[in-house]
Formats: sequence, C-alpha cells, structure tokens
Amino acid sequence: MPAMDTPAAGDPVQKTAPSQSSGTPPQPDPPVARPGGRRHIALSPSRASDFKQCPLLYRFRAVDRIPETPSTAQARGTLVHAALERLYTLPAAERVQERAAGLLEPAWEDMVAGQPELAELVGPEDRARFLDEARALIAGYYTMEDPTRFEPDACEQRVETRLGDGTPLRGFIDRIDVAPTGQVRVVDYKTGRLPWGPGKATALFQMKFYALALLRDRGILPTQLRLMYLKSGEDLVYEPTEAELDRFERTVSALWQAIRTAGSTGDFRPTPSKLCDWCDHKALCPAFDGTPPPYPGWPGE
Ligand code: SF4
Repeated sequence: MPAMDTPAAGDPVQKTAPSQSSGTPPQPDPPVARPGGRRHIALSPSRASDFKQCPLLYRFRAVDRIPETPSTAQARGTLVHAALERLYTLPAAERVQERAAGLLEPAWEDMVAGQPELAELVGPEDRARFLDEARALIAGYYTMEDPTRFEPDACEQRVETRLGDGTPLRGFIDRIDVAPTGQVRVVDYKTGRLPWGPGKATALFQMKFYALALLRDRGILPTQLRLMYLKSGEDLVYEPTEAELDRFERTVSALWQAIRTAGSTGDFRPTPSKLCDWCDHKALCPAFDGTPPPYPGWPGE
C-alpha cells in the first residue's frame, strides 16, 4: 500500500482459526471475551463461516450459546493478540521485540484471572513451552513489520452496522492504519498457517466482510486489508473495490436471510464433514446419534 508509514507487503507475520484445509482443526473465536460483550445477535465472519459449514453448528454456537472448551492454540492466539494490543499502547520507541515478548506473561496472568479454566488448559508443566510458542509468534510478527515506525489509528476496533436490508453485521478489527494520504489499511493477525483452498476463500470472506462493514458503517472504503500470518511470516492482501463490495453485500444479505429462515423454524440441519472431528457438540448432534437440546427460539436482533 503506497504512502503508508508502515512496512509494505513483503515485510516479514494468526489470531483465531487456522486453515480448514491445512489439516489443523478449525477454531471458533478466541476463548476470551472481547470488549463490549454481545448485545444482540448479529452476523460476524466466524458465525457466517459456521452456518456455511453446518447450520446446526451455527445454532449451537450463536443461538444456544453452548460453551466450548478452548484449545491451547486458541488460548495462544488470544494471548498473542492481547500482547500486540498492549504493545501499541506504548510509545513507539519502546515497541521493540523484547518488550513485546515481556508483555506475554502479564497478559497470560490477566487471562487466567478472568478465565480460571485456562490454568487447567495450560498446566504448570506446559506453561514454559506455551509461552515459548507465543514468543515465537511475536518473533514472527517482527519479521513482518517494525511497530516502532508507525502509529496505528486504532486497535481492537468493534465494528457494528446494518446493511440496507437490515442485516446486522458485527466484527472486531485488530488494527486500522491510516496513511497521511488518508488511505486506510485494515490489519488482522493470524496465529495459524497461511490457508489454501477453501481456507483461503474463508479468509477472503473475512476480509470482504470487514471492508463492507467499514464502508457501510463509516463510509470508508479501505485501500487494503491485510491478514498477517505470524507463524510463517506470510500475508494475504486484498484491495477491495466498491463494485465488488456491492456484490458481496448481496451475498451476505442472502446468507443472513437463510439464517433467519432457519431461526424462525428452528430447522438448523446438521451437515457432516471431516470437520466434525473437531466439533465440540458431536454428542448433541443427530448425525452422530445425539439429541440437541430443545430449540430455545430465535434470540432477536
Ligand atoms: S458434529 Fe458435524 S454435523 Fe454435527 S453439529 Fe458438529 S459440525 Fe455439524
């Protein structure tokens, strides 16, 4: 992206889900609640992906809100996000790698204080290795950009809006950079592998979703969206056009209508796939001889 006072694409850096096509399990949103909490049901990239994968999975997560056991990878992703968010509260000159790595341990202690089950997920015998792996992701981040050289416009931004037909969108953007020219870049950190195949389509969906949400919420067409894969130092970059986002808006609206139709009837059908191996709700799934809880009804928007 030209004129942005940050390293360009090709600078050597995942937050939530690794690729569904990379052999690693898909992961829902990070296990630690983000600021603000949920006020009403809305469409996010993760929940859109859930419904496309399996409507019943969507129901369990978005409607029943059945708790899931966080994975170590999710906890590590949340931790790295927390450390990077704290990093940008420091003066630019202090944002060196050692300082960023030093933010991990206190951030982990805060996470465990807020969610004590994390202490069981990462026991005392695993803690050192867990933190080392998080440090490696921070090191990967520093191969991609130098945070002492720029000031982000915003970190951990909640974006919430409605499309023209009332479709509610919600998401959290890791970082927004604004160049002196006014060009806007949206950055999302990923702690899993660079996706390919269907996983890449999911990543592209996420980027378009954020671009559309910003465009409709704030009237801003981002110049660039960048997913930074901290593990491998690779990135995915997308430069949207308004015409493309107009088309994408119709796709998102159609998806929300399908969700609302299922919501009004309670007909969320299970769609078994190889991803079921990583589903927390298999025991409740009719595709695996389980019985879902009674449908609680659509929670409202
Ligand atoms: S086990 Fe598979 S089919 Fe059943 S809810 Fe989970 S993802 Fe859907």
